[in-house]
Amino acid sequence: MKIGLVGGTFDPIHRGHVLLGVVARQQFDLDEIWFLPAGQPYFKEGKKVSPAQDRLAMTKRALDGLAWARVCDIELRREGRTYTCETVEELRARYPQHEFSFIFGADCLDQLDSWRSPERILAGARILAAGRGSGTDYDAMERKAAALMMRFGGQIRVMPFPALDVSSTLVRERMREGLDVSDLLPEAVAAYAERQGLYREEAPQEPAADAPATGTGDAIPPFTAVVFDMDGTLLDTEKLFIDAWEEAEGCVTPELEEALYAIIGVTRERSEEIIYERLGADYPYEERRIAVDEMFRRTRENGALPVKAGAAEILRTLWRKGYRLALASSTERELVIPELEAAGLLPYFDAVICGGDAARGKPAPDIFLKAAEALGTAPGRCLAVEDSRNGILSAHAAGMIPLMVPDLLPPDEEIAALAADICPDLPAAQTWIALHGK
Ligand code: ATP
Repeated sequence: MKIGLVGGTFDPIHRGHVLLGVVARQQFDLDEIWFLPAGQPYFKEGKKVSPAQDRLAMTKRALDGLAWARVCDIELRREGRTYTCETVEELRARYPQHEFSFIFGADCLDQLDSWRSPERILAGARILAAGRGSGTDYDAMERKAAALMMRFGGQIRVMPFPALDVSSTLVRERMREGLDVSDLLPEAVAAYAERQGLYREEAPQEPAADAPATGTGDAIPPFTAVVFDMDGTLLDTEKLFIDAWEEAEGCVTPELEEALYAIIGVTRERSEEIIYERLGADYPYEERRIAVDEMFRRTRENGALPVKAGAAEILRTLWRKGYRLALASSTERELVIPELEAAGLLPYFDAVICGGDAARGKPAPDIFLKAAEALGTAPGRCLAVEDSRNGILSAHAAGMIPLMVPDLLPPDEEIAALAADICPDLPAAQTWIALHGK
């Protein structure tokens, strides 16, 4: 997707900020605009900046109801000062599938050479520079853009922009004096600032040097659909699978155990490759697999396939709240449908995508992308609930919001960084969704 980024202190966010997104999206055919409240803007050191959680809350309110807009809190989650070059690099690493354009006003274009590593910003994102205010000299902006591109490389485009003489400074001043600000910022933002007493003379603001740089945990993009993995997430089948295999094997070696953990959450074809790679080409894979399948069939027929605690409750609650629900599993359809049916979970799903339905299995994004398509929901609006490493990689690569509920293996550092959050079990995931969702 083509993503536009609007970064700012947003103290408070105002109509100019939102309009930057509207105009850039139209002029440059962007799919989404992400608004990034700054953690601790180094160029505002020494000035008072409102607490991060208030600036974040106001940003969310300003964007409420705009389907193309998202709040991205990566700068708030980063410790210490905010540098745009680091933000751009982090976004590129997290979302290699997206193309980024950084949108800002003429005042920032003027200062760009004094920012940290402009060449790193321009290596990771195109810059779209908007005119600012009624005195904008677009010829001067074009000259500045050309000079910056000569010096730092990359692409800078000057963007015609309505002359809006609004700034956060003006909003703060007007609010401090008790004047009407309805022409400057969305009503919900003004109401929040008023209620929190943010811009009163005696407002409880923090010095910028102490501005909290930690995430509040509630800056999750809005989601309207939830996509669940099955094995290890809704059904307690991973452990059953490993036990069955070890029983069929007769003796358990560390190599076998490692190989079995490595095939959790991957398709049958990929499992076969992994087993041969790890245990040798003459390993009796087919024989073992048949024995394991037979054991699963018997367990299912006995109605004993274990369902994870809280599985039915979370699905029922989300379904009632009007979320679109899908299942995205690497396992084949012939197994998935009867297993969901036996567990009483099938009726909750609007779509069920299985191993054979997509070109590549997890960790490739295909299965999750198919699920989003079947739901008619953009992947960025889907929360993906997953237990395994491969599942989180897959959901993340699809551009979904991955929520990890680990089963057999705890997340390593890489996976923990990709997950929006980690919940110990499904009831905790349900609470998490109630806190961050609709
Ligand atoms: P302050 O008055 O506190 O300096 P600000 O209004 O400039 O704040 P920031 O959050 O610092 O707001 O700005 C974020 C981005 O929005 C910057 O790139 C800035 O150039 C741009 N911007 C803000 N207001 C306008 C406007 N009226 N027209 C065009 N761009 C704007």
